[in-house]
Amino acid sequence: MLGWLKRRSEPPVISDEAWFDACADIRWLDRLPPGLLDSLRALSARFLRDKCITGSHDLELDDDDRLRIAILACLPVTRLGYDWLRGWSQVIVYQGQFRVRRSWHDDDTGVVTEDEDWLAGEAWHQGPLILSLEDILADLDAPYDGFNLVAHEVAHKLDMLDGACDGVPPLPDRATALRWQAIFSDEYRRFCKAVDAGEETVMDPYAAEAPDEFFAVASETFFSAPDLLAAGHPALHAELRAFYGFELVLPEREGVDR
Ligand SMILES: [Zn+2]
Repeated sequence: MLGWLKRRSEPPVISDEAWFDACADIRWLDRLPPGLLDSLRALSARFLRDKCITGSHDLELDDDDRLRIAILACLPVTRLGYDWLRGWSQVIVYQGQFRVRRSWHDDDTGVVTEDEDWLAGEAWHQGPLILSLEDILADLDAPYDGFNLVAHEVAHKLDMLDGACDGVPPLPDRATALRWQAIFSDEYRRFCKAVDAGEETVMDPYAAEAPDEFFAVASETFFSAPDLLAAGHPALHAELRAFYGFELVLPEREGVDR
């Protein structure tokens, strides 16, 4: 009884042709540890079944675009598992960066300030994932430069799973949470100091904005330039490697000691 309620429709079959075309565009996939590509393909099919991926305004997406976005969104959870993408159902894709209006209230003065910002991506708590297609394509063109917009926004989604956007995703136990807290707060403090001093940094200086951005930027660096992250921030790299359960294995880069 009620079997029809329990059974969801089967994920769509991703044809070999579509899959291999997408793999050719997403060079990070060549760098997955052995055995993970099949897991990622299965996750991507479920993502295509469950999430509505639409273009905003005049942007028309085809099945190939949707497949690439599904793969990129699932890449960070290849080992964590599909359940980490729960609680939201929509991906909205803009042609390029999009303008948002923000307002905030100063509790001391009572003044409300309004401002505008241009964003490449945004992740809402239990709401849509919003992405700029031009920024995704720029990441794919220069895959090892340290930028991975989709991994950044998915990291925000993982962070928000426990309800708080604080740079701490759900962690398996108290010992891990204490270690995470110690490493991330120390790394964040030192990173902000380096940015304030005008030093060159491995990660985008935007990571100094707030602890949640630090986790998101560290994650996007981890999914684009893990070698540079390991060289510049070994403890942070090790923590992310343990959390995500794998790392991309990049070709050797000149001048990088691991
Ligand atoms: Zn962010």
